[in-house]
Amino acid sequence: MLSDIEIARAATMKPIGAVAERLGIPGDALVPYGKHIAKIDHAFIRSVQDRPRGKLVLVTAITPTPAGEGKTTTTVGLGDALNRIGRKAAICLREPSLGPCFGVKGGAAGGGYSQVVPMEEINLHFTGDFHAITSAHNLLSAMIDNHVYWGNEPKIDGRRLTWRRVLDMNDRMLRNQLNGLGGTTNGFPKEDGFDITVASEVMAVFCLSKDLKDLEARLSRMVIGETDKKEFLTAAAVGAPGAMAVLLKDALQPNLVQTLEGNPAFVHGGPFANIAHGCNSVIATETALRLADVVVTEAGFGADLGAEKFMDIKCRMTGLAPDAAVIVATIRALKMHGGVAKEDLSKENTAALEVGFANLARHIENVAKFGVEAVVGINRFASDTDAEVSTLLALCERAGAKAVMCTHFAEGGKGAEALAHEVAAILDAPRRAQFRTLYPDEMPLLDKVATIAREIYRAAGVEADPKVKAKVKQFEAAGYGRLPVCVAKTQSSFSADPAAKNAPTGHVLPIREIRLSAGAEFVVAICGDIMTMPGLPKVPAAVNIRLDSDGRIVGLS
Ligand code: ADP
Ligand code: MG
Repeated sequence: MLSDIEIARAATMKPIGAVAERLGIPGDALVPYGKHIAKIDHAFIRSVQDRPRGKLVLVTAITPTPAGEGKTTTTVGLGDALNRIGRKAAICLREPSLGPCFGVKGGAAGGGYSQVVPMEEINLHFTGDFHAITSAHNLLSAMIDNHVYWGNEPKIDGRRLTWRRVLDMNDRMLRNQLNGLGGTTNGFPKEDGFDITVASEVMAVFCLSKDLKDLEARLSRMVIGETDKKEFLTAAAVGAPGAMAVLLKDALQPNLVQTLEGNPAFVHGGPFANIAHGCNSVIATETALRLADVVVTEAGFGADLGAEKFMDIKCRMTGLAPDAAVIVATIRALKMHGGVAKEDLSKENTAALEVGFANLARHIENVAKFGVEAVVGINRFASDTDAEVSTLLALCERAGAKAVMCTHFAEGGKGAEALAHEVAAILDAPRRAQFRTLYPDEMPLLDKVATIAREIYRAAGVEADPKVKAKVKQFEAAGYGRLPVCVAKTQSSFSADPAAKNAPTGHVLPIREIRLSAGAEFVVAICGDIMTMPGLPKVPAAVNIRLDSDGRIVGLS
């Protein structure tokens, strides 16, 4: 089989106007970036807001392993398959970050014959949204320090600032630093540091904003530090939000591209799935829902993180609710949860698959807790044996879950038609369950974390030291107690220990730190070591990425 980039490059793409036409977007509502990418302008988006929403399908997955799961690939494959069976379907994805692209993970535009194109552009720079977000974030950083430098009102103590700087690159050298050295004309010495752009609160704000007005209001509420009286200082205090919104205005228009089969795909925004909520922009999802009958979207990491946040943060804030969910599982990953080493994954092992099934079974139960009906999509790898596939189908059936084997990676949308039929059947049937979030707004913050830990992670309890508890009190006293909680923990386990594979029980969730994202409107509970500025591995993917003699990109996967 050809590599992802070879397949993507061989694709004949439709002009973007033709893709837009399928959704009834007129040519004058498009802001083209070349022939195959366009933004959709704000005026058109406003004009469709009162239309009824189509159906929303959430793609989530089992607990990730190095074996790979394929949520993005399945989102694309399912979108294409729904179009093949006669539904007007669009997909919504996150924009890839340069960090993972040049680091370990490679691109994030799907794989095999289920990709969004133009793959190279989507993975690299794209329409410049991340540059805009980086610039807006750093404009605020510069204005804060400048405010301190000139001693402007309100007086800000440089030692009580928490707002850092960002860059869209994996660069561990920038994590911690001392800035402003060199005497009075060069600022003031300050402990500082960089996070990766996707970890910026501006990214989360961008993705949760309903429109430009909401964007500016949220930017104004972002906390940048505290006064000596422990009152929160916001971005509004230094007068930055207006100019930040100006920098973000064009970026906030969702990007339209196409799948390999020429179907519409919105690729917009890309917040981290640990320190933030991990799904594409609200504007893209809401716009797609006004234009298509079915919208398929992906939430990051496993269902314990991505799907939970999708429901408890994005859906809670917007009134969206998934009409169906797909839980992506691979036989390889379940075997890893069942104890098989990565090197041995290609050998048939139904016994390990049965053990590792516990991970999938728990995610199935969890998704049901939100009142959302789910289908398991088995993303088939070439090494999966027929015996393994029938074992997994039987295990799902025994657990009372619908499951479908999919071959969209190798075959494109055709390989996910069976999954599309199952999903369509759920969408067409009268709603059997009522969507619900996991906890009410008025629940105290620590109880919210405990609820997620108990119901979703199946922890025995949570643990927080007095410093964390004091911070929570401060947030609640300042009126932030009604916000939902965004748990930042390892994606590799239901617990906070990445080595605890499969379906651990009895663990305690340690809340190490609690942070306020007042603009995004959630409180982040940090449980474990969370990296907000990743480093590059010993041999980064970038080492193999280059231009060939014809000036084409090679090595991007
Ligand atoms: P996720 O969205 O869950 O992170 P992706 O869809 O991005 O996963 O897939 C991760 C990687 O695995 C990609 O490089 C993709 O090409 C590869 N992949 C996905 N499905 C398959 C498959 N069935 N066979 C082989 N490789 C696959
Ligand atoms: Mg993905």
